[in-house]
Amino acid sequence: MTARVETMKRMRVKEALLNESIGQKVKLTGWVRTRRDSKGGFSFIELNDGSSMKSVQVLAESALPNYESEILNANIGSSIEVIGEVVASPGKGQTTEVKAESVKVVGFADPATYPLQKKGTSFEFLRSIAHLRPRTNTFGAIARVRNEICRSIHNFFQSRGFIYVHTPIITASDCEGAGQMFRVTSFDLLNVPRKEGSAEIDVEQDFFGRATHLTVSGQLEGEAYATALMNIYTFGPTFRAENSNTSRHLAEFWMVEPEMAFCDLEGNMECAEEFLKTIFTDVLSNCSDDMSFFNERIDKTVIETLKHIVESDFVRLPYTEAVEILEKSGQNFEFPVQWGIDLQSEHERYLTEQKFKKPVIVFDYPKDIKAFYMRLNDDGRTVRAMDVLVPKVGEIIGGSQREERLDILTERMKGCGLDPEEYWWYLDLRRFGTVPHAGFGLGLERTVQFVTGMGNIRDVIPFPRTPKSADF
Ligand code: ATP
Ligand code: MN
Repeated sequence: MTARVETMKRMRVKEALLNESIGQKVKLTGWVRTRRDSKGGFSFIELNDGSSMKSVQVLAESALPNYESEILNANIGSSIEVIGEVVASPGKGQTTEVKAESVKVVGFADPATYPLQKKGTSFEFLRSIAHLRPRTNTFGAIARVRNEICRSIHNFFQSRGFIYVHTPIITASDCEGAGQMFRVTSFDLLNVPRKEGSAEIDVEQDFFGRATHLTVSGQLEGEAYATALMNIYTFGPTFRAENSNTSRHLAEFWMVEPEMAFCDLEGNMECAEEFLKTIFTDVLSNCSDDMSFFNERIDKTVIETLKHIVESDFVRLPYTEAVEILEKSGQNFEFPVQWGIDLQSEHERYLTEQKFKKPVIVFDYPKDIKAFYMRLNDDGRTVRAMDVLVPKVGEIIGGSQREERLDILTERMKGCGLDPEEYWWYLDLRRFGTVPHAGFGLGLERTVQFVTGMGNIRDVIPFPRTPKSADF
């Protein structure tokens, strides 16, 4: 005789909410979002496990042995394990619910001290409890959308044959110029070795025997791999010690940096445009519940904006023309516009939000405001740089065609006060088999910000690092 084994499926809430699951016996785990006790002798528990925006309603009857002792004390934030059957829900607003056979409370949360009681707590307050904020609707949705964006980024490049390259986080090269980098040292700060008879720090005694920093970009190392593997991308954390306390800057943020050999600025722009459109399309189709939430609660235009961008052609605008447009705009900018200045956020936003109402790729910037490695144009005063600007966020991508000519690159370095000797290996890439090549950097958090409509970049990374703040 064979014993009848009842099959019980471990399920995530997302699955239990589907009509197809009706009739199945399931085990669900998660955290209590709300509990309502009815006088009729049962309770409704909203159970969420992070798999979706929606929670599943669990019906727990008072006949359960631990009803009085435990279930009635399973307050908001408690963790529970539910075994029961998925049934069609008679209530409106949901199609299924779970009729519990057992509800085990795994961990209680004291309602007197659990900080996430009320709805509608401010984002400022939630930043002070960054370890608990993923349990809210907003931060759960941000985590899922951020995940989808990362998946989309890898899919985009992998499906096109790009090789994912890991560039170092501790770097000896200063990609953009000093001042904005974090120093990496193992020196005892109370007793830093000096060179004999001098105040100068003796870096030779430091861990790496030289000055090292946290990377601001993996580009230079990325170029070494692109000039061997053709198309590569890096995707990792980058660091900037600049003291910019804005809603669009973090001291630690994630950057995606593709680099393409045998590619010029036009190819770079095409790649960037297709890349952004792919990310937005993927999020719209794979995170529809979360996106509806952002559209309703955070920014009523966010879905419409993304759809519009996917369908429109990005504007391509030379810097010189951008300056002319800004000068003639009649706007009262805080920073006056004039050829040669770096565009400020207010200028970028005017171009993309008011003038063109879609993404704008500004290119051919003055060489004096851009990095040494950008390819010099024949006019001798602009370089093949490009920034992709989007509404609200401003610059989301910065990139360029790189200078592949050894002599010009060496001159540019000297002009920027850099010692070509220090960059011997980077110059080797031009000495041996040089090719036109190009790439860009996409800020992951700016992308999440743009997609979700969240106003502050501190809210789209789990544990933000900004000036005077590295809690958690
Ligand atoms: P910005 O002018 O906005 O400060 P940047 O020109 O210094 O940016 P790049 O060096 O071109 O930035 O970096 C490439 C991309 O990385 C930017 O387009 C942006 O999306 C993102 N990024 C740059 N700095 C930060 C930061 N401090 N926090 C978050 N993302 C950033
Ligand atoms: Mn930039």
